[in-house]
Amino acid sequence: MTSEDEVRRHWAQLRYERALELEEQGLISEAIGELRAAVELNPLDAEALNVLGYLLGQQGKPDEALQTFRRAMAVDNKHLGACINLGMALADRREYNEALTWLRRARRILPELALVHREIAAVHRNRWELKKAVKSWQRALELERRINPKTRRAVLVPDGTIDAYRLAMRFFASAVARGAVVRNFTEVIEIDSTQGEVQGVRVRQIRTGLEQRYACRAIVNAAGPWADKVAALAQQDVPVTPAAGTMVAVEGRLTNMVVSRLRRPGDGDIIVPQRRLSIIGSTQRKVDDPDGLRPLGEEISFLLSSADELIPDFSKQPFRSAWTAARPLAGRSSEEGREISRDISVIDHGKTGKLKGLFTILGGKATTLRIMGELVSDQVAQYLDVDEPCRTALFELYPYDYYWRLS
Ligand SMILES: Cc1cc2nc3c(=O)[nH]c(=O)nc-3n(C[C@H](O)[C@H](O)[C@H](O)COP(=O)(O)OP(=O)(O)OC[C@H]3O[C@@H](n4cnc5c(N)ncnc54)[C@H](O)[C@@H]3O)c2cc1C
Repeated sequence: MTSEDEVRRHWAQLRYERALELEEQGLISEAIGELRAAVELNPLDAEALNVLGYLLGQQGKPDEALQTFRRAMAVDNKHLGACINLGMALADRREYNEALTWLRRARRILPELALVHREIAAVHRNRWELKKAVKSWQRALELERRINPKTRRAVLVPDGTIDAYRLAMRFFASAVARGAVVRNFTEVIEIDSTQGEVQGVRVRQIRTGLEQRYACRAIVNAAGPWADKVAALAQQDVPVTPAAGTMVAVEGRLTNMVVSRLRRPGDGDIIVPQRRLSIIGSTQRKVDDPDGLRPLGEEISFLLSSADELIPDFSKQPFRSAWTAARPLAGRSSEEGREISRDISVIDHGKTGKLKGLFTILGGKATTLRIMGELVSDQVAQYLDVDEPCRTALFELYPYDYYWRLS
């Protein structure tokens, strides 16, 4: 490959990435423009062709979409996405024979993908080949054998699980590798400030009672549902609503994937397999204090019966545990919790409460934690006159057990 080819491929990749950003912002026509430019620069990019075909289909241009999927398969005949999309586009036009050819090829590429079995079943059903349709549908159910056989429809979505404990350890390990000092089981008990600027913190080790003081110019208050209590140490106001949620774990991995109820987010609508357990979650109720939370009897009964609707006999598995923790919802509300926004909020107390150097990060979800880190780090860096953007998005975290190896 010549260096000119490399440059073209590089530009094609940049335009492809730009197209994805535009698509995320809902700017579909602009995204299509970038993708057209990308595939002109690199006509062998099957992924760019596939995304282009998909967006053209969304824009009501089925003929052009179909041709684009064909081009994608011509340059890479093992491209799973293009293969499925081509099959589905043909099925939409009732060209069932050719649709089945491509969908079966997709099934050979990734036999465990339930979506493909479902689409093959749909083609057979549309051709009134009901025996074949049921067979394919059964194959989809085989991937999750325990889900309720009365399920009328299933949709495969790219969901995943996080091990909450190990996730935190991975951040600690990565921070320690970069020179941070982690103080677990240590409580901030005072925030020192003079003349409206942060000067340091006083902390107490929970186990030993030992108190120490650390000097610093900036503090990030990331105390979740306790954020208001930490802010109060510096006479600052942080509006937070602790919303308690309960989960129940039983022994055994009852599903391969996360299984969730197809409806508006609500209580008891998700089963998560984790290590050797299956967890049903969760509930939500507003509480005054995030400390000392206990699961309520009625929450446990409700969760177990909700789990039985998704996976029959879930509640007959050996009971492992039930626990309750508080979500830190940003803002104050009289609602019961679900209606309060999960938006991320960064408070610069230099601007809101006349205390420079104190920042509070609040709200969000576990899945948004890195963007939360980025938002607050960039503000702290600006305050400290550091002219470097946060790079967390580019950094692969260390394995969780490195924390002990490095500490
Ligand atoms: C039941 C439940 C289900 C959830 N399900 C999901 C889900 O499916 N998907 C998802 O993305 N998110 C989920 N979340 C939300 C997610 O877990 C929260 O967004 C996240 O825990 C909040 O993170 P945080 O770091 O802001 O606060 P926390 O995780 O609460 O951390 C705050 C930390 O501050 C410490 N602290 C408090 N006071 C002090 C002090 N004085 N000094 C030092 N440290 C202090 C606490 O000990 C704690 O470790 C769920 C949360 C709950 C409770």
